[in-house]
Amino acid sequence: MPQIASFDDVKATRKERQVPTGTAWRTNFIDPEENNPVSAQAFLVEGTAGRVIKTHFHDYDQYQVIVSGGGVLGKHELQVNAVHFSRKYTPYGPIVFGEQQLGFLTLRAHKDPGAQYLEDPEKRSKLMTLENRKPWQATELPKFHPTTPDAALHTFTDLKAEDGLASFSLSVASNARALAPDPAHSNGQYLIIVRGSLHYEGREYKALSVAFVKPQEGPFELVAGSEGLDVLVLHFPREVVAKAAAAPQVAKGAPGTRTWQCMLCAFVYDEATGMPHDGVAPGTPWEDVPESWFCPDCSASKSDFVMALVE
Ligand code: FE
Repeated sequence: MPQIASFDDVKATRKERQVPTGTAWRTNFIDPEENNPVSAQAFLVEGTAGRVIKTHFHDYDQYQVIVSGGGVLGKHELQVNAVHFSRKYTPYGPIVFGEQQLGFLTLRAHKDPGAQYLEDPEKRSKLMTLENRKPWQATELPKFHPTTPDAALHTFTDLKAEDGLASFSLSVASNARALAPDPAHSNGQYLIIVRGSLHYEGREYKALSVAFVKPQEGPFELVAGSEGLDVLVLHFPREVVAKAAAAPQVAKGAPGTRTWQCMLCAFVYDEATGMPHDGVAPGTPWEDVPESWFCPDCSASKSDFVMALVE
C-alpha cells in the first residue's frame, strides 16, 4: 500500500527550533520505519528570511521540492515548484532563505543519518576519498497544463537517467482520472500534490500532500477533486553496480577551450561558454577567472577545481 499524508494530517508534528540565523520548523510527512533503513522519509523544512543551511551532502539520493517562498541555493534562485535532485555524496548550498521565507520538502527512498557539512574537515576528506563517487545535481521546473480536457503529462528533460531517475509533472482535470507513470523501474516514487486535490481510499487529500509508492506497487490511479490536480511524480534511481574504472585519460585543449570540474560536486566550468551571469565572458581561460569566483552549486573555491580530462 502506498503511504500518503496531507499537511493537515501531519501539521501537529511541526517542530520549531531556534538556529543561529533565524527560526526553523520541521514537519514530518512520512517517517522511516523502525529498524528498516530502506524505507521512505519525507519532511517539510521551513525557515525565516535569512536562515542559512550551510553546504552539505547526504549518504543517499534526495529530491527537494520548493513549496513556498523563495531563496537561493548556491548561485541558483529557488522558486515555488522547482525540483532539485542530488545524488548521494553531492554537496550543495548554502541554502539562503529569501524575503518571503522558504519552505521545501525533502524526499528520500532511504533513511538518512543527516546533513554532513563541508566545513567539517572529516566530512570533506570523506568525500575526497570515496571510491566510485558519482556526484551530480540539477534543478528543474515542472510544466503544468491546467486547461487540458483530461490529463497532461510533462517529462522533465534534465532530471532523467538510464538508472531509473525520472521526473514528471501531471495535470488532471476536475473529477477526471489518470494513471501516474509506473514506478517499476525506479527505486520508489513520490507523488506530490501541489494544487487541487486527490481522492484516494475514500478520502480527499488536498495540496500539500505527499505519497510514496514502492516499485512493485504499480501505477497509482490519480482521481482529481473538483478543482483538478497538479502532481509532481519523482522517481528515484535504482542502485547501479559501479562499472570498471575507465581507461587512462589525458588532458587536452588550448586555453579558452578547456573544461574544469569541481572536485566536490562535479560542476563543470567550460572556458568556451564562460559564466556570463558571474561576469566571466565566454572564452575566459581558467587562469583569468577571478580568485573570488566560486562554484555555483556547492560554493567551493577555485582551488577545488581540476582540469577535466578527456580520453
Ligand atoms: Fe561544486
